[in-house]
Amino acid sequence: MSGKRCCNLAVKRALVCVILLAMPVRSVATPHAPRQPQGSRLPDNARVRAALDWFTPHISWVNDQQARITEIPAPSFQEAHRAAVVKELFAEAGLATQIDRTGNVIGELRGVNEKEIVVVAAHIDTVFPPDTDVRVHRDGSRMVAPGISDNGTGVVALVALARAVQFAHLKPQRTVLFVGDVGEEGEGNLRGMRAIVDTYRGKLKAVVVLDGSGTDHVTTKALASRRLEALITGPGGHSWSDFGMPNPINALVRGSVRFINTKVPASPRTTFNIGQIEGGTSVNSIPHEAHLKVDIRSESEDELARLESALRDCIAAGARDEMESAGDRSKGKLEWKVELLGSRPGGELASDSQLLTALRAADEFVGNQSRVERSSTDANIPLSLGIEAISIGAGGNGGGAHSLQEWYDSAGRELGLKRALLTILGISGVAEEKSR
Ligand SMILES: [Zn+2]
Repeated sequence: MSGKRCCNLAVKRALVCVILLAMPVRSVATPHAPRQPQGSRLPDNARVRAALDWFTPHISWVNDQQARITEIPAPSFQEAHRAAVVKELFAEAGLATQIDRTGNVIGELRGVNEKEIVVVAAHIDTVFPPDTDVRVHRDGSRMVAPGISDNGTGVVALVALARAVQFAHLKPQRTVLFVGDVGEEGEGNLRGMRAIVDTYRGKLKAVVVLDGSGTDHVTTKALASRRLEALITGPGGHSWSDFGMPNPINALVRGSVRFINTKVPASPRTTFNIGQIEGGTSVNSIPHEAHLKVDIRSESEDELARLESALRDCIAAGARDEMESAGDRSKGKLEWKVELLGSRPGGELASDSQLLTALRAADEFVGNQSRVERSSTDANIPLSLGIEAISIGAGGNGGGAHSLQEWYDSAGRELGLKRALLTILGISGVAEEKSR
């Protein structure tokens, strides 16, 4: 990676941060207060060094595993096959594994303190239908395949991190759960992460989400969103003989035109997207039904609520307009409804939180700079409940997410893996005793 710097002074400063963060600090107000002498040994901890040094000589192995994982189709709700392979990789990395009722694959690295848990998670599902060609085309450090970066990079990072920890015989203070979670994309509606947070809620201290590539950002603000489906139905009929009968597609178009003229503020930033529209059976039939799906997002929950009710009003108005203009009301009327398909709550990580402090210390150690972002990720769920959480990329570079041309380049990947490892150890702490 370009821009990497590593002067002695910076390293020493970063090490001091990492040492202090490695302690299981409970007070947010004094994250740097040295409360246990054991923490001061982290920079001298040969195991932390050994774990960090594991990545560089094993990058080609990591790349191979990423290709292997990516070539197993895993659309949301059909992740079982990929989960089984990830479970196997977790077990080989020495983790105690299970697949929970929701389908999440979990690998436990037991800490000294089993009552406190840190989750490091990467979603294993993709947006691609099961028949998509997911074969990986490789050219040097570059790989091209749907899902290779989002989230092949994050999933393989879980495996690489667990391997590095195993190699170094590192034992954390807090128990660390490596989680390949299901249902992050689209209508999965974060169901995997919801289940994890629900199961471990009382013990869960922090969640680090690995999603996609890069090291240039840290998502600390959860973008709230809702997904809605509008459905309009009618009696249907023949294009010629039943002309004048209310038409659900017409009604949906009328309602859609009203909706897309809704004014949204630039700040708080608020967006909408009609992403799918379907209906009808043939060109010469008045359709029985028509429906559309809308994604709305906002930095403000109030704006989100306003936009949702605007959609409901517009669809109702579109159906009424269509019925009023229909010449023949004796042939039936339209019914309509708007349903919530999914909702992702918002939230925000405090700038003085332990987790962000740990990430910043890790950034400093590896010589990385990252900007804070707002986005819709698995971190929404813990953040909305006041649990510390971030989402970061797992290193290297990638692009074309959610497209068939998606690519990943592993050059510089070790920086992202080291950054993730130090962040996790920073929030979990490292045990003094060796774990063998
Ligand atoms: Zn993703």
